[in-house]
Amino acid sequence: MGRLVDWLSEPRAPHHAITWWRRARRYRDLPRPRPDETSLTLALTFDVERDPGQPVDPHRCQTCFPFLDWLDEVSAARDWRTTLFVQGSIVEQLAAPLRRLVPRHELGLHGYFHELWGRQLWFAPYEPPPPPGLRRALLEEGLRAFERAGLPRPRAFRAPNLVCDQTTLALLEQAGFRLDSSAATYRGEAPIVTRHGALVRVPVSGAPRPILHRWLGTPLPSWAVHRVVNLVNFLAPFDELMPLVEEVLAVQTLAGSPHHLVVLAHPWEFADLPITGCGSANYDRLIDRVELLSSYFPTKVSGIGDIVSRSALAHLDRPAAS
Ligand SMILES: [Zn+2]
Repeated sequence: MGRLVDWLSEPRAPHHAITWWRRARRYRDLPRPRPDETSLTLALTFDVERDPGQPVDPHRCQTCFPFLDWLDEVSAARDWRTTLFVQGSIVEQLAAPLRRLVPRHELGLHGYFHELWGRQLWFAPYEPPPPPGLRRALLEEGLRAFERAGLPRPRAFRAPNLVCDQTTLALLEQAGFRLDSSAATYRGEAPIVTRHGALVRVPVSGAPRPILHRWLGTPLPSWAVHRVVNLVNFLAPFDELMPLVEEVLAVQTLAGSPHHLVVLAHPWEFADLPITGCGSANYDRLIDRVELLSSYFPTKVSGIGDIVSRSALAHLDRPAAS
């Protein structure tokens, strides 16, 4: 039933063509930012989670260790502050490298066993989300894991698969979280800072203007795609990345939101795994890409929370763009 509801509300599907039209119209012909007038807060965010592969073991995280060592060394040398959303069940295994990264970096929670925190996805074989009581217990257990690991209490949350419903947002508020980064920009949510009660929401950056795919050989649109700033797209050829970055910044200008770019990556993407886009070459490619982007816009590599603390609060009281 959850999957059916998710399909019916899927904004990328043709039965939501009116949403495509509305977004295309809203974000059409936005003035692109001028590099000499635009300073950029770049939030490199890493979802530190169990290794990919079957069978899934929520405690296995071998790819995290070399990545965290690399991040410690590189970020210190380059004055990077980043954000690590850590899956609760592996926090204690990673206590030593995470403690080295604090306080220069920001820590958040990425679920407990990498479960869903909202409606089941129509396109992926995940179990339904835990009921509210169990979700509350998983949040508490995640917070206790940080405490047992000698780490500061996280105030930021990102739901696995960017699946997060109103129940989860209420539970996050009750548990004392202050920032949520779970909005589904791959489904066209605007890449801007918004407020939800006591929470500030800062999504992974993406383009809310749909790119339409068409049925083969016909003018009929079949699907709407929203590009997000995941690691694959961030490391894509620069002439492919820049239009995406410019569009994100233009949407933020339209909304009066501070200029920022939130990049979503995972430690396993830096491991030599037989998965498209993964590989240890990504270590150097990430450094090169940050430097290249910095040559176009004055760029500060910051935690995701810094985007909010640096922004004027007034824009948060405006209605969110959709
Ligand atoms: Zn994840």
